Amino acid sequence: MSIRLRLALSYGTLFALILPLVTVLSYALHARGQYDDLDRALLVSAGHAIAEASDSVTGPHLIQGKEGLEIALRFYTTTGTLQELSLGTETLPTMNPYNVLRNPSGPAFDAFTSLIPPMMGYVSVPPRGVFYLLSTPTQRWRVYVQPIYFGVRTTGYIEALTPLGHIDTSMQTFRLLLGVLGFCSLVAALGGSWAIAGNALRPIARMIQTAQTIALSRDLSQRIDMPAQKDELGRLAATFNEMLASIEGAYRTQQRFVSDASHELRAPLTAIQGNLELLRRYQAMPAGEREEAFEEMEREADRLSRLVADMLALARADAGVPLKRHTIDLDVIVLDSFRSARQLAHGQTMQLEPFEPAQTDGDEDRLKQLLLILLDNALKYTPEQGHIMLGLHHKDGHIEIVVHDTGMGIAPEDLPHVFERFYRADPGRSRDPGGTGLGLPIAQWIVEQHGGAISLKSQQEQGTCVTVSLPLSGGRL
Ligand code: ADP
Repeated sequence: MSIRLRLALSYGTLFALILPLVTVLSYALHARGQYDDLDRALLVSAGHAIAEASDSVTGPHLIQGKEGLEIALRFYTTTGTLQELSLGTETLPTMNPYNVLRNPSGPAFDAFTSLIPPMMGYVSVPPRGVFYLLSTPTQRWRVYVQPIYFGVRTTGYIEALTPLGHIDTSMQTFRLLLGVLGFCSLVAALGGSWAIAGNALRPIARMIQTAQTIALSRDLSQRIDMPAQKDELGRLAATFNEMLASIEGAYRTQQRFVSDASHELRAPLTAIQGNLELLRRYQAMPAGEREEAFEEMEREADRLSRLVADMLALARADAGVPLKRHTIDLDVIVLDSFRSARQLAHGQTMQLEPFEPAQTDGDEDRLKQLLLILLDNALKYTPEQGHIMLGLHHKDGHIEIVVHDTGMGIAPEDLPHVFERFYRADPGRSRDPGGTGLGLPIAQWIVEQHGGAISLKSQQEQGTCVTVSLPLSGGRL
């Protein structure tokens, strides 16, 4: 069952439960008011008639009440014989006052009215006064009977009667009207809640549609139309779009990585294949050229294995492999890396300055890898006679590692991209077998995993300065 149908049915059921309750109570209150008005009029008329009868000899007579209300009166003797009666009541069955007064509980007006107790207001029913209902083939009559006393002696009985035909018909019409209105309201409520639920769930339907389109077309650039309201569904649509944007970004990065990786892997492989082909075809190749071909193949194989190692490192980084972190002496790692890098220098001078002992919580191997990437870059892009400075010091409650070189620097247009995977600044040097374009992205990942930050400043032909900021171990200096 759809959410829309469930919502519509829940609202409908709730309404169907509340509506009859409200309808019956309002009807009962209204009917009770109407019938109570009649009872009050009967009481008052009977009271007046008793007073008049005891004062005059004219006897009982028909009283014309307000709004055409007709009240007839009948007097009975103490033995229950009809003594006097209003015109128009001749055909009505007479009562036995004795029986009526003995069994005062007559039938209720109707099932609904009896839900509300009589509210007689300012008129009170005398102790032995009794109301009951008299049914004739044409209509019902409301009857009030009360004994007439002279001192403590009963001298007779008075019966006040009023026809209920008019009010019964009007109540019947009212019941019918309420029933029809109730049914129409229920149908309208069901229809309305179906429409409202449909309207409220429309953004969800659109989301489902978009998700289906994406699933079929694999087009992650699609977005959901944002609903105008900033309600829960609006926020859900916004979150859905953000999620799509993030998946799209990750997917594009992945695609670029795969295409860049295959491109990068193809270059050394082609070089190796070309050289192998050359060696196979020209058996009589001079020894010098043969040696050159072997050297190139060696360089390309070396580059290939570096590429694979770097790609593996990044794949592990993407997979979220956790670092093995513990408190380490960063100065020892910096010194170690400095010594290793110095072996690779080809004419550049290398200095370790400033140098302060420092501890951080981190992964020793990864931090060494970071330093070797930065020092390797400095050596790669700094000509002979250039200078490379490596510094380790405390700054503003952090540890700062600075690798500064006086090399060729980076062009301003390349600077924003150097942390992108496979990005290499100068196409002229991009075939440098040492470079993979993955060094700085790996360095950035390592620094971020340690809760630090990496920044790079460079000026063409002036040099480059890479600053790494790392948190101190346990906040200690
Ligand atoms: P690569 O393996 O090519 O060095 P990196 O990701 O380490 O890849 O660096 C990206 C690019 O940034 C390099 O190709 C280079 O152009 C530039 N670069 C990085 N470090 C330096 C530096 N110290 N001096 C000049 N250019 C640099």
